[in-house]
Amino acid sequence: MSTDPATASLTADPYVPGHGDLRYAAVEYDLDLDYAIASNHLSGRTTISLRILLPTSAIELDLSGALRVTGVTVSGATLRRHTHRGGRLTLRFAEELSAGHLLTVVVATKGSPRPMRGPDGLAGWEELEDGVIVASQPHGAPSWYPCNDRASDKASYRLTLACDTAYTVIANGRLTGRRKVGRKTAWTYVQDEPMAPYLATVQIGRYAVRDLPDAPVPVRVAGPPRLGTAIETAFADQGRMIAAMEEWFGPYPFAAGYTAVVTDDDLEIPLESQSLSTFGANLAHRGWEAQRLIAHELAHQWWGNSVTAGLGQDIWLHEGFACYAEWLWSPVAGEASTQERARVHWEQLKRKDQDLVLAAPGAKDMFDDRVYKRGALTLHALRGQVGEEAFFALLHTWGSRFRHGVVSTQDFVALAQEVTGRDLAALFDAWLHQAKLPPLPTL
Ligand SMILES: [Zn+2]
Repeated sequence: MSTDPATASLTADPYVPGHGDLRYAAVEYDLDLDYAIASNHLSGRTTISLRILLPTSAIELDLSGALRVTGVTVSGATLRRHTHRGGRLTLRFAEELSAGHLLTVVVATKGSPRPMRGPDGLAGWEELEDGVIVASQPHGAPSWYPCNDRASDKASYRLTLACDTAYTVIANGRLTGRRKVGRKTAWTYVQDEPMAPYLATVQIGRYAVRDLPDAPVPVRVAGPPRLGTAIETAFADQGRMIAAMEEWFGPYPFAAGYTAVVTDDDLEIPLESQSLSTFGANLAHRGWEAQRLIAHELAHQWWGNSVTAGLGQDIWLHEGFACYAEWLWSPVAGEASTQERARVHWEQLKRKDQDLVLAAPGAKDMFDDRVYKRGALTLHALRGQVGEEAFFALLHTWGSRFRHGVVSTQDFVALAQEVTGRDLAALFDAWLHQAKLPPLPTL
């Protein structure tokens, strides 16, 4: 363990212990990857442009021990040495770098990526029956590329991945190129809007990709051909859903549009990544359980991906909002009213332990169902108190003022008071900072 204070990184997020470095910010990642499906072998060359934030003679990147570092080069500073242990790649420089200094770091890696363990379980690069899913929230990004793994450090991305031509590769942003390289095809994607490291993904499978008509932004669905009709049925309302959310939340945040990927495997839970979401084959149906999750993951494009909580403790700003989007969508889909959804989930919460504080649930309860439901009820209570017009004006302003930004619970509370002109301290204290469940809110 290092005892040199000059090389000790600062804790970026207690909910993702040991990840992230506050001494620098990434500006751009350029990932050049070559993948062999059969052997799960990934070789990569990651170029990271970064800016020093605090005077330092060392920085740390997060990188799983499952990947071996085969080379590091730096331009903009003299690299004295690098060490890779405990999931951290430390770069020590010959000189102290001052705040504002720009560097380019190139890291070559090789190995068989696998999910990484964190307080909440496993996350990261994972093999499917016949393909790959990357589900990194909250700590799995370093399972496949070196990064500054803190949600508060957003950067633009460019990714090229070559793999067997029989497979389709889907990643964040827009597809800008596809070329044959021997028996492989190299796919290039560019994500211009800033992205948190955990939201970067690649999805690899024997997928057919189809454009969906009648959507306000370009929308695609990808999945195994055997599920063609089921996928078409499941995602029939995707365009209408985006239009509804644009009305509730403001313009869809990503120029590349949206892609829904359905894997050939069943998945325990779906996941959101920037500009795309991934669902298991088990959700390719019209039932409410699938439709609510299709709405939920879509809502994360606004709440989580564009407007991102910098710290894990504020995860209700993602999950509470996405859950409330399900309840907003419910009556549009001909299902129960939003008030009825609120009542049912309030009754369920009432029967559960009331020992969770929404604005500080603890790392292991970050994705506890109570965070989702109580988070949604907090918004429902707010809506009841301030009225329709002020509530939706607040959501629009939240989405536009912090578009592609990093936020905290405090930011939301302050904006709510600013936009509505009301004193909401008692409401937020009861819902966010007390464990006891407040009475059922009504509109
Ligand atoms: Zn979610």
